[in-house]
Amino acid sequence: MLRDRIRHGAAEMGTAVVATMQSGALVSDEVVNQMVEERLSRPDAKQGFVLDGYPRTLAQAEHLSRWFDARGIREVVIYLAVDYNIVIARLTGRRQCPRCGTLYNLATQPPRVDELCDLDGEKLVIRDDDNEVVIRERLAGYERQTRPVLEYYRLGGRRLVEVDASNDPPETVFVKICQAIETHDRSKDRC
Ligand SMILES: [Zn+2]
Repeated sequence: MLRDRIRHGAAEMGTAVVATMQSGALVSDEVVNQMVEERLSRPDAKQGFVLDGYPRTLAQAEHLSRWFDARGIREVVIYLAVDYNIVIARLTGRRQCPRCGTLYNLATQPPRVDELCDLDGEKLVIRDDDNEVVIRERLAGYERQTRPVLEYYRLGGRRLVEVDASNDPPETVFVKICQAIETHDRSKDRC
């Protein structure tokens, strides 16, 4: 949404967002909230929409709930729960060929010959952002910022569905999400 906004937005907010992003700072809750509101007010969002990556902070979640409540929009919050040790194992198992860019995973998609690219025999490398220290920092940042959002939905009586996404392939997680949403739809209290 941010990128789209920058591409099309000659509006002054677009310019402010560009400046913020270029300075390396995170765009403020207020700016993000306003952009989301604008986007959700367009006609194609009338029948429903999926938000991914938002809300990311407690302030954003509270803002969104007020906005929904004022319009009678009822959300289903889907929490994909993945064990941190599994996240780390997945990400630290990632290897890339420095010559052709092909990605491998020692756990799930290993090369035929240990540590060598199937296509050109180049020695595979670990990408800088896949080392365990960086990954643990990212997870700690997630804990700090986003865990309160989960607690907000869990304790606030909003509709929260937890889907265990630790071990299943993406297709299976997708089916689980669909089932969870359908279950919610069937048990929906009419108001
Ligand atoms: Zn290669």
